[in-house]
Amino acid sequence: MKPAKPVKQAKQAMPTRTSHNFRPDDASLKGLQERLLAWFRETARDLPWRHTHDPYRILVAEVMLQQTQVERVIPFYTAFLDAFPTLESLAVASTADVIRQWAGLGYNRRAVNIQRAARTVCGPYGGRFPQTVADLQKLPGIGPYTAGALASFAFGQDAACIDANIRRVLRRCLVGPEPDSSVVRERVLLDLAQSLVPPGHGGVWNQAMMELGALVCVAGTPVCQRCPLRDHCRTFAMATAQAPSSGASAASTTASATTFALRRPARRVAEPRAPFYGSNRYYRGRVVDRLRTLPPDATIPFDQLGPQVKETYTPDEQDWLRDLVGGLVRDGLVEIVGDAVRLPPGS
Ligand code: SF4
Repeated sequence: MKPAKPVKQAKQAMPTRTSHNFRPDDASLKGLQERLLAWFRETARDLPWRHTHDPYRILVAEVMLQQTQVERVIPFYTAFLDAFPTLESLAVASTADVIRQWAGLGYNRRAVNIQRAARTVCGPYGGRFPQTVADLQKLPGIGPYTAGALASFAFGQDAACIDANIRRVLRRCLVGPEPDSSVVRERVLLDLAQSLVPPGHGGVWNQAMMELGALVCVAGTPVCQRCPLRDHCRTFAMATAQAPSSGASAASTTASATTFALRRPARRVAEPRAPFYGSNRYYRGRVVDRLRTLPPDATIPFDQLGPQVKETYTPDEQDWLRDLVGGLVRDGLVEIVGDAVRLPPGS
């Protein structure tokens, strides 16, 4: 007689986790808010965009900061605002001048997007920025993060926003150690972020969360010994609970414990990143850099452009070059005139 087949257990559905699963109770939240804001008042870096509520200046800073480190952004931010001190001056400038001014920052499409947003505000919006997150996202190149940053920093709204730093703090502090915390959906994190904002303090709260992620709860090993949220942090609590008891100092124990709790499993090897040099992105940058050196409105023929941006270029690569330039045209970064290329002069 055949043995009876084991009865398959129905798979249990994972309960859907919402922001309520992670939000501290009211008393704990109040303590967390007070600690973070007090820490920020004492330690905040003096950054030029923190001295203004002008939405234009904040937009410039936020777009520059999207892919560039704070220290690198500061001189570019100052120089850009010297060249285009107002929203109107940016809107009427030649796009070629804006792209020239962006030289050295990389991700040139950001320059075009800032100008498109400026032209939209100066055109259909009559020179006044919309003020809600939903309306701000209707401007060209403005996504949920930038909209939340503008709404809270410029217009004092209690709008949450999530950048890489805030996301890391939210996950570690309120969700738990990686990698489990990394599966929580972005929508849940945004709801959670929104539920933390102290009423009337949205701008400073978002800045404080970002600052904590930039200076203390950093990518890699966080500096928990200096963290104002240590007593509220799930990752820290779990790490210290797992810490080996030894004669080591409390500081070194908690440091190594947190590192342990944050360590990814060995099988999760980081994906090798595509090398930038030699990639299409690299050559797109080379094309724009070459065009920046031309006098205003001057063009360069395709057959001269190829060898100037790629040392090993051969005429067989014409299609590749035209595709590359076609992508730059679609992004508004260059213009084709006959059989030649230039920066877009339009204003
Ligand atoms: S205690 Fe450590 S892990 Fe937790 S929020 Fe602070 S720095 Fe990040």
